[in-house]
Amino acid sequence: MTPVLARLRLTPFIDGAFQEAGRAVDTVLDPATGETVASVTAARPEQVVKAIGAARRAFDEGDWPRMPVYERGQVLRAIADGIMARSEDLALLESVNGGKPISGACREVAGAARVFNYYAGAMDKFFGDTIPVSESLLNFTLREPLGVVAQITPWNFPLLAAAWKLAPALAAGCACLLKPSPLTPLSTLMLAEIIADCGVPAGIVNILPGGAEIGQLLAEHEAIDGISFTGSTAVGTAVMRAAAGSIKSVALELGGKNACIVFDDADIEKAAKSAVGAAFGNAGQSCSARSRMLVQKSAVAAFTQALVDELAKLRLGSPLDPATTLGPLISAPHWERVDSSVRAAERGGARLVTGGARPAELKKGNFYLPTVFGDVSPELPIYRDEIFGPVCSITPFATEAQAIRMANASAYGLNGSVWSRDIGRALRVAKAVRTGMIAVNGLPSASSTSLFAPFGGYKRSGLGRELGMNALAFYTEVKTVTVDLT
Ligand code: NAD
Repeated sequence: MTPVLARLRLTPFIDGAFQEAGRAVDTVLDPATGETVASVTAARPEQVVKAIGAARRAFDEGDWPRMPVYERGQVLRAIADGIMARSEDLALLESVNGGKPISGACREVAGAARVFNYYAGAMDKFFGDTIPVSESLLNFTLREPLGVVAQITPWNFPLLAAAWKLAPALAAGCACLLKPSPLTPLSTLMLAEIIADCGVPAGIVNILPGGAEIGQLLAEHEAIDGISFTGSTAVGTAVMRAAAGSIKSVALELGGKNACIVFDDADIEKAAKSAVGAAFGNAGQSCSARSRMLVQKSAVAAFTQALVDELAKLRLGSPLDPATTLGPLISAPHWERVDSSVRAAERGGARLVTGGARPAELKKGNFYLPTVFGDVSPELPIYRDEIFGPVCSITPFATEAQAIRMANASAYGLNGSVWSRDIGRALRVAKAVRTGMIAVNGLPSASSTSLFAPFGGYKRSGLGRELGMNALAFYTEVKTVTVDLT
């Protein structure tokens, strides 16, 4: 780890150059030990303004938005290759900084490279229409880059989130100002080094480490055309409000309280096995975590036992140990939040089936046992609120209609699962559930999420979609051209 960090530039990347180290520092911790990993210089407000100016100039006057899309694609391909060339270092940073088991971190790095490769070949397949408005007019639309875009990422998938935002924005010809979470800036700074080596013009990608005040400044600034935010619904609301002043385009990927509906005719073993990844992957710190298990009454006992048996196979420990399958929570304050939700659930009458504490053998770090509650009433906060930890609740239902009502009784609408051997019923439920995504009888893991398919939520889970061609819709404006043929 030390040689990787010794080489890494830990300062804002603005107008093609890493800045001098300064006094405003974000201390980056290893969640598995609590030890300091690095000190990163946060961007100062005047540096943010300088970066916005550089991005504006690069977009308004530079080559990047005007370059043939094939040539921009070549640069994106070089970034993908650069990511793979440094994949071990990136996985190490993701693991040590984010507490991710190293095998999962390797998959996420490969996933980030795939995103750049996908968008390298996407922009020449995303174009306007010819619209038959009348015999005397030729009407067509052009897709033009949105402009200067701010991008704000959370701590739970730092590199993937940066790739999901930068790759389509760059493909579309935008100039980017990306702010990573102050808890996990390291892999994004390494990505800045890779991008700098790949021929992206100065000012087109700016990386601005720092906290809420930097994000707020980006959301408010009137020289920015659009903002893509991934994080909590509370902060997303503040970002949308701040962006309203200059009528920015806004894309929001927010929280989730996702239901996994298991009917009694489902393959219960398979559903339970899948629930381990679906609810406890990344230690439950995933917007897509299926933290509400809705199980048909007659299958509750079998499903609960199968889930407990599967959870017993998880190995908690150092994220750098290849045998580890469950890492720590991101921070000590987050550990306290998760634990207080668990204690509140107990007080509210939920039955603790397993977990609910720090593992006895792991005294250091932010480890939490995989935790399952049974008989959880839909009135309890643990059923309604995003816990963002390795905690799930099991609530019985009787009928298909009741399962749909329960799944939809949520402020969120991001993701979900349905399990049934009756494919007609599974698809009826998939259609009736108000979520942006739903998995039927299986679930891809976050890092193998299909790049071709849109990702995003209904209701308070967000606005717009990332990935696929849908992301290009956000990073482009539509221009209507009308030609008088007479
Ligand atoms: P968060 O909302 O606390 O922070 C997200 C980012 O916003 C960070 O970079 C943070 O520094 C920044 N920020 C904080 N206050 C800000 C402000 N006032 N203005 C602008 N930026 C500000 O979220 P988090 O704790 O980093 O991440 C966890 C949350 O992210 C969860 O709710 C999770 O569901 C959500 N998430 C959603 C998706 C998705 O695709 N839907 C993916 C990953 C995470």
